Amino acid sequence: MAIPATMRAMVLEAPRQPLRETQLPAPQPAAQQVLIQVHACGVCRTDLHIVDGELSEPKLPLILGHEIVGTVVALGDGVRRFRLGDRVGVPWLGYTCGECRYCRKDQENLCERAGFTGYTLDGGYAEYTVAYEQYCFHLPAAYPNAAAAPLLCAGLIGYRTYRLSGDRVEHLGIYGFGAAAHIIAQVAVHQGKRVYAFTKPGDTQGQDFARRLGAAWAGDSGTLPPVELDAAMIFAPVGSLVVEALRATAKGGVVVSGGIHMSDIPAFPYRLLWEERVIRSVANLTRRDGEEFLAIAPQVPVETTVTRFPLEHANLALQTLRAGELEGAAVLIMPSDRDVQ
Ligand SMILES: [Zn+2]
Ligand SMILES: [Zn+2]
Repeated sequence: MAIPATMRAMVLEAPRQPLRETQLPAPQPAAQQVLIQVHACGVCRTDLHIVDGELSEPKLPLILGHEIVGTVVALGDGVRRFRLGDRVGVPWLGYTCGECRYCRKDQENLCERAGFTGYTLDGGYAEYTVAYEQYCFHLPAAYPNAAAAPLLCAGLIGYRTYRLSGDRVEHLGIYGFGAAAHIIAQVAVHQGKRVYAFTKPGDTQGQDFARRLGAAWAGDSGTLPPVELDAAMIFAPVGSLVVEALRATAKGGVVVSGGIHMSDIPAFPYRLLWEERVIRSVANLTRRDGEEFLAIAPQVPVETTVTRFPLEHANLALQTLRAGELEGAAVLIMPSDRDVQ
């Protein structure tokens, strides 16, 4: 297909400013890269942390967006895994060096020279983007473009968080019931776990949403669940939830924080940690996490709840996420998706 010389993009020029709608030259794929016509791109809480300057080393100007669904429309030299016309998903992990101490230990999520989509590499709030083919995924056919987008970060990071919560978990707490939680709760229920969902106090709508997705119990954060948790996952950027989750967790239990940024964790008495409770974080993802999760999602099947915004309403989508007014995930829809849905 003919690729236009320019494209529309929503660009972050400096932190703490709204994104600006801009015409830019369409990118060209370098060696090992594919050029992608973007159909849909999810909006993630990490995007808010970048806009707010809480993640302090973005490339600037920057095109945000690391939950990209599109079609391969041109190939750089040496591309082998994808062909023209393939549907492709692009996640947060956009590049790793393959050589540093972490890459050599099978911990590419911790790579010292990693590139991150929509942070240190341009992302998907645009009509076109380029990505290194080794970090792109083939997507399960069952998902339309918009429905597939949240799988690529909310799903993948949610899955890594879930995996690190341990495999002998019966009672699993989830603090913060947004995009990641609504996806991974379905996987947990499918795998026979009992899910306890904690929302902002008084968010009965969020609690109903959690119960509809199979949660055994849903209530206000700050209250204790009816049973002690074997593990807890935290998806809200609120440090005090770490203490609340410890308080709700049984001996030997794990509290895993899935977010990239969190407010300070308040001091707490050692007895809450004693008896071999563990606090840990999740950073980024590995390609293995992605392959595993994208194989599991259609088996469950995970159903994503999305609110669509046109590309030019990206600022509104970010505001809506910030206000906590979304059920599920926000997704930007490009003009190229209109004939699909
Ligand atoms: Zn994300
Ligand atoms: Zn590395």
